[in-house]
Amino acid sequence: MFKGVPTLANLNLRLLTGHAAKGREFSAALINGQVLVRRTKATATSLDLADANGSKIDVDVYSEQELLKRAKFRHTGFEVQKKIAAEKKLRTPPLLNLVFANRKLSFYDTSSGSTDCEQNAKLNQRRNYSIRPHREQEQRNAEDVLFDMFASEETGLISMGKFLAGLKTTGIRRNDPRVRELMDNLKKVHKLNNYETGSSAETQHLNRETFKAVVSPNIVLIAKAFRQQFVIPDFSSFVKDIEDIYIRCKGNTEGKLADYIPQLARYSPNFWGVSICTIDGQRFSIGDVEEPFTLQSCSKPLTYAIALEKLGPKVVHSFVGQEPSGRNFNELVLDQNKKPHNPMINAGAILTCSLMNALVKPDMTAAEIFDYTMSWFKRLSGGEYIGFNNAVFLSEREAADRNYALGFYMRENKCFPKRTNLKEVMDYYFQCCSMETNCEAMSVIAASLANGGICPTTEEKVFRPEVIRDVLSIMHSCGTYDYSGQFAFKVGLPAKSGVSGGMMLVVPNVMGIFVWSPPLDQLGNTVRGLQFCDELVNTFNFHRYDNLKHLSNKKDPRKHRYETKGLSIVNLLFSAASGDVTALRRHRLSGMDITLADYDGRTALHLAASEGHLECVKFLLEQCHVPHNPKDRWGNLPVDEAENFCHSDVVDFLKRWAENAKDAPQECITESVTTKTAADEELPCNTTSPLPTESEPRSSSPASSEAGSTASVDKTKPGL
Ligand code: GLN
Repeated sequence: MFKGVPTLANLNLRLLTGHAAKGREFSAALINGQVLVRRTKATATSLDLADANGSKIDVDVYSEQELLKRAKFRHTGFEVQKKIAAEKKLRTPPLLNLVFANRKLSFYDTSSGSTDCEQNAKLNQRRNYSIRPHREQEQRNAEDVLFDMFASEETGLISMGKFLAGLKTTGIRRNDPRVRELMDNLKKVHKLNNYETGSSAETQHLNRETFKAVVSPNIVLIAKAFRQQFVIPDFSSFVKDIEDIYIRCKGNTEGKLADYIPQLARYSPNFWGVSICTIDGQRFSIGDVEEPFTLQSCSKPLTYAIALEKLGPKVVHSFVGQEPSGRNFNELVLDQNKKPHNPMINAGAILTCSLMNALVKPDMTAAEIFDYTMSWFKRLSGGEYIGFNNAVFLSEREAADRNYALGFYMRENKCFPKRTNLKEVMDYYFQCCSMETNCEAMSVIAASLANGGICPTTEEKVFRPEVIRDVLSIMHSCGTYDYSGQFAFKVGLPAKSGVSGGMMLVVPNVMGIFVWSPPLDQLGNTVRGLQFCDELVNTFNFHRYDNLKHLSNKKDPRKHRYETKGLSIVNLLFSAASGDVTALRRHRLSGMDITLADYDGRTALHLAASEGHLECVKFLLEQCHVPHNPKDRWGNLPVDEAENFCHSDVVDFLKRWAENAKDAPQECITESVTTKTAADEELPCNTTSPLPTESEPRSSSPASSEAGSTASVDKTKPGL
């Protein structure tokens, strides 16, 4: 750029009009094929030029400093931007997914090919391109592939609007802290571009270099998203099912609002919100998810977690039990050891508050403990909304006869640690119940519990995994009041409900869900929330004791659509490369497509041939009837591989096979290996000749395999 600063005349351009008086005040440069004009005085922002044919060109004018910045970002010019309006095409992500899935499979062990053959060096040199790619190289590739996926062929630019929309379908939101740099960079580029495109920072169009610079700080997460490597790979399908369940529950108008304090009685019974956050931070929300409500009993597992984190389970459970009480949540009852039954009922939660007060932070004032607790909740929620509702707090304190009775009853039975100030403990308990939040924030808290104590959106380690294990265990057996046994039976997931109509549901190692609807059933659980949980586990195999392997009437959204295929390729190629005929036989019997190729078009036959595994080569051709002449990305056939690595027996066999195949009829039918059984495998079949028999058609016609040599022969074949 700006080398020698070409004049307009050099560029064969003529000044038509300018907002500055004289053309001398401008000099021009060609950057990325576009004319950019430098102004020597800060007087003009645009001017009209004509090219040699007299056609008018609009040119934007920048200061040198601006131009330097633009050159750094290789920014697109005004002319090109105009074409953007015509842009229509968007290629779809699944293609990329496969590219990436296969990219990881571009393995090749160079050491295994060290022979004296002269050509090997050349061959290996070529292969090195794909061997053990350097991490940076892989990331650079990821950025390029993303660009190619979303860029318009016409303009050569990527629409960031479409890109971000694509990202959203994977569950990643624009305000996710993990893509903050990307969003900041977009704003910077938009500013550098003088906000000229008529679009916003998030809908502007970028060229390849700018795009790569913009996404690179967050490319690891973004690539993971588009590779469908999150715990819910097909997030949009999952979301559709959730929407259906949400709508079905919306129609349920049963239940009654809690009315022991006026603030709860005033809620509309129509409020209904569901928020989901997976352990990879994929987000989905529907309904009244930003409406604030108080945590109430949903605070109980959280204060319990802090106590566990700080004191350990031994100390905590020397004061409080682990058994379901089988009684009402606020019943005046202790277990046979004169301890509250568990930390999820009122007595147990008040006891936990006393531990915080007397043991965790004995030196803190009441105000400091409140702040301290809130900061834990905030960290768990990844900084999302956690507030405090003072009216609820005051009402709770006013309407707390039973809770005070529980406090005195426990003091009488010496349940509390020494130095307990009961008044402070009770206030602290009411404050925890009165913390305000919404479905969005609570879903992140639930996801932090699902994720072993690490907040998925900030990646902050808030609790130790052992703490979370204990919290989830208690939630599982005691989280839904007197319904806990039935809930554990029917839903089979840890949950905690609150009297404000919220319910926190955890699918361990998968996601956190928060549902909120104020009408409660007789046991104090949200009616719509319970229906949602029921329907969720009827749709997906999330129940703790669902059998993931054999239960086929439920969906497993954790399953990768391409997982089977990707893993198949890895397994298949490794078996061939290591000469493991038994494994190859197993793959075939399991219905795997033995003709699969990796990203470089390398098939099992290529690897078996280059490693000199004659038995594997024979098995692949004779038993599996794979094409004998697939070409990899460098145009190499399996026989070339065998030759390059001086495996003369394999070369002879492949050459003979090719000779015979020449005479084979051209109209061959693709073999469906899935129709075979172990018994079939034992039957003598076409073991020596490449010619198909009537009883066993085959796919390895030289004609057909030539055409589709680097891919699976039949993509529709079952078992893919
Ligand atoms: N504030 C309520 C109470 O202590 C909380 C109980 C609940 O949510 N079930 O009674």
